[in-house]
Amino acid sequence: MPMLTDFGFTYEQKMMRESLLKLAQKELPAEKIRQLDEDGAWPREAYGALARAGWLGLCYPEEYGGMNGSYKDLAILLETLSYHYACLGTTYMTSVIYAGLQLLHNGSEQLKRDYMVPMIKGDIYIAFALTEPQTGSDVAAIKTRAVRKNGDYVLSGQKWFITSAHVADYLVVVAKTDPDAQPVHRGFSIFLVDAKAEGVSMLPIKTMGRHTTHTNQVYFDEVRVPAGNLIGEENRGWKLLMRGLDLERMAIAACGAGNAQHAIDIAQEYATQRIQFGVPISSHQVIQHKLADMRIKAELARLMTYRTAEMLDAGADTRMETAIAKIVATECDFECANIGMQVMGGAGYSMEHDMQRLFRDSRLGPIGGGSNEIQRNIISKLMGLA
Ligand SMILES: Cc1cc2nc3c(=O)[nH]c(=O)nc-3n(C[C@H](O)[C@H](O)[C@H](O)COP(=O)(O)OP(=O)(O)OC[C@H]3O[C@@H](n4cnc5c(N)ncnc54)[C@H](O)[C@@H]3O)c2cc1C
Repeated sequence: MPMLTDFGFTYEQKMMRESLLKLAQKELPAEKIRQLDEDGAWPREAYGALARAGWLGLCYPEEYGGMNGSYKDLAILLETLSYHYACLGTTYMTSVIYAGLQLLHNGSEQLKRDYMVPMIKGDIYIAFALTEPQTGSDVAAIKTRAVRKNGDYVLSGQKWFITSAHVADYLVVVAKTDPDAQPVHRGFSIFLVDAKAEGVSMLPIKTMGRHTTHTNQVYFDEVRVPAGNLIGEENRGWKLLMRGLDLERMAIAACGAGNAQHAIDIAQEYATQRIQFGVPISSHQVIQHKLADMRIKAELARLMTYRTAEMLDAGADTRMETAIAKIVATECDFECANIGMQVMGGAGYSMEHDMQRLFRDSRLGPIGGGSNEIQRNIISKLMGLA
């Protein structure tokens, strides 16, 4: 990552970034990424290599086989993986952050030993299922139901846009356990569900980008879930979900910052080699300014990411900053890919070059993980405007 300054990183953090980049380059060379994107295939070998090197446990306690790393360490890891390939960052985040941290923060000791520890080792993969066909932003309106029966739960409903559910061994599923609860937030619970259990079925959803992480519709038809697979207390799920949001937004920002820098690398290299009117197009000030704008945007994304990571490490209230970081980094990421495409002209638009993939993959950032409109709602509310 030649352009990325490591100011403020410890020696270990610099080494971590180097070693992650080496691993990613070895396991996922550019040609392989192109093939995975074309085939919609999951980056199994690269994820396995991350697991073998212990990186899945970065932010988990040592007693469970983790590294006890900081949030800033996590930001560096996600930025690096996403710099190499956006979907590698998402592959990591889905199981390790979205699903796995629910087990760490809210799961019983049994769930931690039986599922979280194998997840850290890479023996199992866990997807996270919240969104439904009728409810994306309006999370409180989900309809999937879990009903107590003979001591266990019976789960019925439908989820969609569930990243990597097709390769998952388990799903962390958010369901209603008390649909009549008032206020409505009181009726949620979170479950760990066997993705191969009777009654679970899936269909792929085709998307513009993020082909290798791939999203799915997931159906639950009276799926039996053991009572011990309840994560946290019954009807307390909303609170548990909210607790993880700040970290998730910071993680999405880190991924955006990484992908943005990749767009600069591609555009800059192309601009210095593409000759028009007898000179490299990079000799035109207008192209230089476009590349400079990309650099400014990538730096903004990084600044917000690392600032919020440090605030999270300090235990500060980061609701405002993580919402801002998520917006800034995902919008800067998409703008970088968009400008990068313009810098490359027709080549940027063609499937022969990687910029189109970065453009497609970066478009998800402002939509997923709580859309940027919802983040702006949060900021307005914290400003006392709503
Ligand atoms: C590729 C991909 C992967 C995903 N992976 C997962 C996953 O693994 N697990 C999971 O649970 N979900 C996942 N999602 C779902 C994702 O979190 C939702 O798409 C996102 O939360 C937005 O919900 P929605 O698509 O239903 O949009 P809607 O909620 O229908 O919103 C549509 C538009 O209206 C705006 N809007 C809605 N309400 C308001 C409001 N009150 N104020 C202002 N604007 C508003 C939104 O910002 C958006 O622009 C994924 C989605 C995609 C596309």
